[in-house]
Amino acid sequence: SSSALSPINSGGRAEEMKTQEEKSTQPMSDLHNIDPELIQRMAYDALVWTSIHGLVVGDKSVPRSGKVPGVGLVHAPIALLPMSFPENHWKQACEVSPIFNELIDRVSLDGEFLQESLSRTKMVDAFTSRLMDIHSQMLENGKREEIRLGLHRSDYMLDEQTKLLLQIEINTISASFPGLGSLVSELHRLRETSSCFNCSCLFCRSLLNQYKEQLGLDSRRIPRNAAVNGFAEALAKAWEEYSNPRAVVMFVVQTEERNMYDQHWLSTEFPFSCFPQLCNTYDVTTIRKTLAEIDEQGVLQPDGTLLVGDQAIGVIYFRAGYAPTDYPSESEWRARLLMEQSSAIKCPSISYHLAGTKKIQQELAKPNVLERFLENKDDIAKIRKCFAGLWSLDDSDIVKDAIERPEFYVMKPQREGGGNNIYGDDVRKSLLRLQEEGAEENAAYILMQRIFPTIAPTYLMRDGICHKDHAMSELGIYGAYLRCVACAKFCDFSFEGASMHILSSFYLSSKTCQFCSFVCLQHFNSVRNRIRNKENVIMNEQCGYLMRTKVSSSNEGGVAAGFAVLDSVYLN
Ligand code: ADP
Ligand code: MG
Ligand code: MG
Repeated sequence: SSSALSPINSGGRAEEMKTQEEKSTQPMSDLHNIDPELIQRMAYDALVWTSIHGLVVGDKSVPRSGKVPGVGLVHAPIALLPMSFPENHWKQACEVSPIFNELIDRVSLDGEFLQESLSRTKMVDAFTSRLMDIHSQMLENGKREEIRLGLHRSDYMLDEQTKLLLQIEINTISASFPGLGSLVSELHRLRETSSCFNCSCLFCRSLLNQYKEQLGLDSRRIPRNAAVNGFAEALAKAWEEYSNPRAVVMFVVQTEERNMYDQHWLSTEFPFSCFPQLCNTYDVTTIRKTLAEIDEQGVLQPDGTLLVGDQAIGVIYFRAGYAPTDYPSESEWRARLLMEQSSAIKCPSISYHLAGTKKIQQELAKPNVLERFLENKDDIAKIRKCFAGLWSLDDSDIVKDAIERPEFYVMKPQREGGGNNIYGDDVRKSLLRLQEEGAEENAAYILMQRIFPTIAPTYLMRDGICHKDHAMSELGIYGAYLRCVACAKFCDFSFEGASMHILSSFYLSSKTCQFCSFVCLQHFNSVRNRIRNKENVIMNEQCGYLMRTKVSSSNEGGVAAGFAVLDSVYLN
């Protein structure tokens, strides 16, 4: 019902704005009272910090900046100071992360549910239809993903009036900014001086550390952000499960990518973060390929191995392929199909991709649907608590209300990457148009309750300029999930005798240190223990966060799309 909708419009009256400001700035020092000269000094230092720590993106104004690394770099859009956020809601978002990971996995296994829920969308949305064709083909072939890797980001806004933390969406493909997001937290965090002997080397001198006294900020209130380590670890562990030491991790990328440094941070993390017990033996190689290149250079071997050039691919990590523009010709679709048919671990698989669509989000919010996928009642309640109002356009009462009060709704097509939603009076116009056309096209969209988060003043930095504005934030929580069904097969065997032998030859053959030729017993033992305990979930974790802050007058929140800046969280 629409009665739960918040009556406060984010465009709000001045009076409302004032009280909101007062409330939200209380736990942090009063931003209005910071000396403007101090702000300028801090902004300068922040710019230096971003430049020397790789908190950078390609600069639009430099033509080659999206193609050649090291050319045309500019600092990422950032907030100068962290954003206040209530600790209880922060904890809530972290707590539900593994449950959402599990939910996506369960939904992905229900091919019928995915096909059925998206069947009408398929008829009117050519892009979703192509994705679903690949999915159908996999169902027909009985293709099973035995090792499943999810790197998700679930996004929330805190509704100011109801004080409810409501999910905006969950991204199961190409969830961006684990790299740069982690760096912003480093920029903002006041590092503990004890850990660095109070030196003032470039690494220890985080921005706010220098302005501790003036700002009166407490370092412990900015949570550590290990998103990049968590994602790298999950990718590396997936690669390890693939059990081919010569296989590589392939990043699927766009032909031009100005957010490439976020991705490079992830690949550079591998050698440091994975398997310290193996004395960093496994130097996981990553390669970057576009969909067109994969079509050109990719072949499938009879055993399902995907070769790109002459390299076997163990893990495919998509940072492209989520938007229709990523598929300008049949070549890109052939590449997507080829990858899906292969034995490589896909992040995401086609079913994980579909499970993250907005239509599925809306279907999951219907009564009794979560129960189809989760057993634990507490888990179901926790997930449901995060659901905002979500409706299909078949709901005539809601459509009627949305035409009368469009400011309380957002209309969403099945798209990713920001800039696609419909707001305000355009909601009314679009709904009326659809009604006139009596169209099937209804099924391309969902309607969502509009959430109105607290508006607070903040300092936003873009293109070297720092300016103060009223802003609102969206909190994203990264989740990593890795499940290996193949291991479960071994559970039925006894560990004595033959199966033990199979296992040991299977694992030990590939787990030999490249440098010292010692067999890694530690890894072997951990695998064996997992199998003994019948655990096949290797990883299911909340790992890090992304705060994005945008000026309150903007509807959309994309950083790359130019609406928002990267931020961190100041718990209160
Ligand atoms: P995308 O997959 O393109 O990121 P989202 O559903 O996340 O699509 O919407 C994009 C942006 O629009 C969000 O980051 C947020 O700023 C805004 N937005 C989306 N849904 C809502 C909502 N229900 N209420 C308020 N703002 C919303
Ligand atoms: Mg999205
Ligand atoms: Mg989004």
